[in-house]
Amino acid sequence: MTVLRPRGAAQALRMYARRPDAIPLAGGTDFMVAWNAGERDGRAVLDLSAVREWRGIRRTAGVLSIGALATHAELGDDHLVRRHFPVLARAAAAVGSAQIQNRGTLGGNVANASPAADTLPALAVYDARIATAGGGGRRLQLSDFLIGVKKNALLPGELITAVELPLLPRRPDRQLFRKVGPRAAMAISKTVAAGLLWLDRGGAVRELRFALGAMAPTVARLKAAEEFVRGRKLTPALAEEACRLLDQDVAPIDDPRSTAAYRLAVSRNLLREFLAPRF
Ligand SMILES: Cc1cc2nc3c(=O)[nH]c(=O)nc-3n(C[C@H](O)[C@H](O)[C@H](O)COP(=O)(O)OP(=O)(O)OC[C@H]3O[C@@H](n4cnc5c(N)ncnc54)[C@H](O)[C@@H]3O)c2cc1C
Repeated sequence: MTVLRPRGAAQALRMYARRPDAIPLAGGTDFMVAWNAGERDGRAVLDLSAVREWRGIRRTAGVLSIGALATHAELGDDHLVRRHFPVLARAAAAVGSAQIQNRGTLGGNVANASPAADTLPALAVYDARIATAGGGGRRLQLSDFLIGVKKNALLPGELITAVELPLLPRRPDRQLFRKVGPRAAMAISKTVAAGLLWLDRGGAVRELRFALGAMAPTVARLKAAEEFVRGRKLTPALAEEACRLLDQDVAPIDDPRSTAAYRLAVSRNLLREFLAPRF
């Protein structure tokens, strides 16, 4: 096995430009599963673990920039993430197990582009941008970055450097993270939800953002429901109509982990509960 081990960002990009066939390796938790299945045979590996520039979590003007190599454990513990983006902190704490959280990175979770990845609904409701380097470097909206089941928009020689979250102008009135799986740990989600809700003074919906994972080839924002509830008062009838609209934005399938019917029913229950009037 050829392992390329750059000591910094510039060297990583140079090495990758010379060997665009190499497979980037961050925490290795997805990589090793594919490796064991023989899916990576004969390919060189670009081990990013010594690239310090892509670690760490920083607040800059209006944005929290999370290094691609930040681990789930670091996200769950970080005071800025917990304060400004608690839904992401909770998602990171729901990934796998303590061992997986200590090795697995946010960049790896995003690059792997699994429909069931637990951080993606949180990133979707926070309007995350994916920052890259190599081939010029870009900033892509998450929805442009994820292009299919386990497919991302990275070009040869391009790597994720950070995930950027714009700071919210106002604290949401309600926030939700919910992973539905067969166990509390080491479970791939049957469905995974993230939600943010802002209400105005009169109790009408100012803004709803709601995203579901494991319900479509890529994480899905519920655009139809989000649009429908805007400006309307929370009532049981409103929540019911929003739930009815849910299938305009998702298309769950039957697979060994769950059925489409179960996924739809549970997701509707989560949305209904999130939008329920509270007195
Ligand atoms: C037992 C087990 C349980 C798990 N449970 C969960 C779970 O509950 N929820 C969940 O969401 N996931 C889970 N996972 C999946 C995995 O742990 C996560 O997706 C993790 O975040 C991957 O990060 P990593 O650093 O280990 O990625 P790696 O395995 O190193 O890489 C994953 C993919 O991303 C690419 N990549 C990595 N970093 C970059 C970068 N900076 N730029 C470009 N490409 C890059 C790699 O080439 C590879 O294709 C589990 C995995 C295992 C083995």
